[in-house]
Amino acid sequence: MILQNWWFTSLLPQNFPPIQPLRHDIKVDVLIVGGGMTGMSAAAAFLEKGFKVAVIERNVFGGSSTGRSAGFLTPDSELELSQLERRFGNEGAKKIWQVPVSGINLIVERVKKYDLQCDLIKQDSLFVGIGKDGVSAIKEEKEARSRVGFDSIVYDKSQLENVLGSKNYEAAVRYGNTYGISALQYVQNMKRILIDGGIQVYEATEAQRIKDHTVYTHAGSVTADKIIVAIDKIKPSLTRYSREVFHAQTFLSISEPLSDEDYKNLFPSGEQFQCWDSTLVYSYWRLTGTRRLLLGGGSAMTTFMAQWDNKEKVIDAVIKGFKARFPALKKLEFIQYWPGQIDTTRDLLPTVVRDAEAPHIHYAFGIVGLPWASFCGDFLARVILGTAEKDEMEYFSYFSDRRYFALPTSVQRLVGKPFLFSMNNFWAKYYQVDVKRQLKFNPNDF
Ligand SMILES: Cc1cc2nc3c(=O)[nH]c(=O)nc-3n(C[C@H](O)[C@H](O)[C@H](O)COP(=O)(O)OP(=O)(O)OC[C@H]3O[C@@H](n4cnc5c(N)ncnc54)[C@H](O)[C@@H]3O)c2cc1C
Repeated sequence: MILQNWWFTSLLPQNFPPIQPLRHDIKVDVLIVGGGMTGMSAAAAFLEKGFKVAVIERNVFGGSSTGRSAGFLTPDSELELSQLERRFGNEGAKKIWQVPVSGINLIVERVKKYDLQCDLIKQDSLFVGIGKDGVSAIKEEKEARSRVGFDSIVYDKSQLENVLGSKNYEAAVRYGNTYGISALQYVQNMKRILIDGGIQVYEATEAQRIKDHTVYTHAGSVTADKIIVAIDKIKPSLTRYSREVFHAQTFLSISEPLSDEDYKNLFPSGEQFQCWDSTLVYSYWRLTGTRRLLLGGGSAMTTFMAQWDNKEKVIDAVIKGFKARFPALKKLEFIQYWPGQIDTTRDLLPTVVRDAEAPHIHYAFGIVGLPWASFCGDFLARVILGTAEKDEMEYFSYFSDRRYFALPTSVQRLVGKPFLFSMNNFWAKYYQVDVKRQLKFNPNDF
């Protein structure tokens, strides 16, 4: 296996020329910093709205988490519906679930509208349970889905063997309207649509400093009435919000294309799924359009590590674990692997906030999941455009930086960032209850 991101390899045959960096000073109505799923989605919301808009991106569009991702488009990210229901109650969970559902719809609509080639494949989600705890997790998810009014199908062990070629899972819950995608190709295609629609795009252009309404880059500057910051791994020199961003590291690998026999051994019914298991540091897998298996996961040690890790042995262990559960695929070769640090917040929900000290600057950060990023970018743009629905403004109480967290960031100095994050993360997933902690809405917060 070589250490290389497969999406960049598969992008080569397509024609996505890099865009030249910004080399002068410009003025626009709206500047978007960051060309990942969030920034791209925000920029697309301004198409045909008559605003002068620019996007600056440090790398290339999708050059960070978006272009490293496995491309699962499912509302589940780090938080399952049952966990959201425990935390926010039935109505709250339903409301929040609408965020990634809308994010997926937005992506699918754009792929259709612009006829984008980005390996979009319909793949139902299959959340599979391991051991006794796994059976409880599946049961809880099914019940939460029913209470919130969403369909799903539960498979017991013997039924599951008909759809997934393993005897090593106890149960699973299945639901639809989920997809696989090459997120890198999607945002790169959308880059072209933005440029054609009159939006100024600059790649290889890093925001180094923000002062009042001006963002300075290495060779130019952008002065804007409104600024949306949708970047990852935020540096403290750029904003104080950097201390609110945490990271969860995961690894991905990609196999040789599956033979017909391999395919049958993985999905005996012929129908393919995107799958992940019920463990805390879960494994996840799905097929690409060329029938390569994307397999991801990590280890308890590396997930919360402050520093990036490239060690092949982590993904080797994930592959070994997968082959132990699917012995018929033990000869399948994996050819490339790559790690990635997912930006997140302490409680795994995104933060979308307007800077109280500089209200023309809006931030969207710590967004886990492509569907969430797709929605949050679009939503933030619509807040600026004044076209967000009134009831959407309730997202404020979930996405504000003033929402309740189990441990404050100040503890970081004593216990360190990884410990603070892992404790908050664990609490948010398994114990936190926020039903009675609704924040008072302040229109200036968004
Ligand atoms: C290995 C891996 C697998 C994943 N798999 C999935 C999955 O299957 N499904 C799913 O839903 N989610 C997945 N995720 C999570 C998902 O990729 C992210 O949640 C999502 O892409 C976040 O999008 P974003 O636009 O907020 O961030 P990013 O994609 O990180 O975009 C931020 C952009 O800002 C740019 N930038 C940073 N600093 C500056 C600066 N100073 N100036 C200008 N630009 C800057 C970066 O280069 C980057 O392009 C995965 C993540 C990883 C790492």
